Amino acid sequence: MKEAFQYLQEELDQMKENQTFRPLIPLASKQGSRVKIKGKDVIQLSSNNYLGLTDHPRLKQAAIEAIEKFGAGTGSVRTIAGTMDMHNALEEKLADFKHTEAALVFQSGFTTNQGVLSAILAEQDVVISDELNHASIIDGIRLTKADRKIYKHSDMDSLEAALKESDGYRARLIVTDGVFSMDGDIAKLPEIVELAEKYNAMVMVDDAHASGVLGKNGRGTVNHFGLDGRVHIQVGTLSKAIGVLGGYVASTNTLRDYLIHKGRPFLFSTSHPPAVTAACSAAIDVLLEEPELIVKLWDNTAFFKNGLKALGFNTGKSETPITPVIIGDEAKALAFSDKLFEYGVFAQGIVYPTVPKGTARVRTIVTAQHTQDELQEALNAFEKAGKEIGII
Ligand SMILES: *Cc1c(COP(=O)(O)O)cnc(C)c1O
Repeated sequence: MKEAFQYLQEELDQMKENQTFRPLIPLASKQGSRVKIKGKDVIQLSSNNYLGLTDHPRLKQAAIEAIEKFGAGTGSVRTIAGTMDMHNALEEKLADFKHTEAALVFQSGFTTNQGVLSAILAEQDVVISDELNHASIIDGIRLTKADRKIYKHSDMDSLEAALKESDGYRARLIVTDGVFSMDGDIAKLPEIVELAEKYNAMVMVDDAHASGVLGKNGRGTVNHFGLDGRVHIQVGTLSKAIGVLGGYVASTNTLRDYLIHKGRPFLFSTSHPPAVTAACSAAIDVLLEEPELIVKLWDNTAFFKNGLKALGFNTGKSETPITPVIIGDEAKALAFSDKLFEYGVFAQGIVYPTVPKGTARVRTIVTAQHTQDELQEALNAFEKAGKEIGII
């Protein structure tokens, strides 16, 4: 048995030698501003739990009630016997929330991108993608026969050049992350939409890190920029700020109906358990009724980001609660992360292939749950560890 995997083991051994091998790190507690890891209480700066909703009483209560009433699972894919009233109701709520005609939920944000891109594009079409787009967009594109063009990150000249070269296709689709997950910068959506309208292209934005974070009540980048009605496809995740699991596409009835028939993860993978759907629905209510969570998230963002900058760290182009501390060298970034842990902060090092070579970093995400005392404590740890590793 073992010999068969020798070729994989060699690659892993190489990673260990380069100090880029990372074992999974289990939490021994629930998610929160402080978590228990390896027997130690540490400040959590690596989760996507922006608003603390993983532990919100209304979500937990909704999940418990849904299990009691509707059971633990659904027993089928959506298209056969696995659609409950609550699945459709959540989609209507999401469409209302996003100010679109319709929405459709997938098992995850990853499968949403994969399912949408692979379904709606064929060899007569072209997709034009930002070079730093998320892996699920890249994989979705890999699954289509459409021609593909990659433009330089948020570079509008590069995007326009790609649009000029792509005359004569049936559909042209520009696709971008709304907030880039490793740098925390926001897509230049107003300019992208202008160019799309000029060249008669469609726009798809993946708001995984903008849902619950940007726009009124966390509606995302389209709403943030006042572009409602001008972006054809909005993808959101229910797994990050929403605190549960899932992804969705908000668009037209036509796209929803089409994806119900052609979106392969939707067609061939079982629907969300009642607890997931009910908790997601409660989360949207929380976004609408407790906007103070988003205010707190942004207050914490300003406090922590300014603190890191004042200490002299390179935080790149971040404009959101995602703040990278860019180090460059992979081993150094991982050593920095280990040092931070020693001083009571959990902030994961991120290396190639998640980020380009030479841009290894420690990525931080503050949440609405952090207190300012906790963030100050974290800044103290960054200062100490940064000086010891020789970054500042
Ligand atoms: C996290 C992420 C996804 C995947 O979402 P999941 O719901 O976790 O599968 C998709 N796109 C982007 C930009 C992301 O950051």
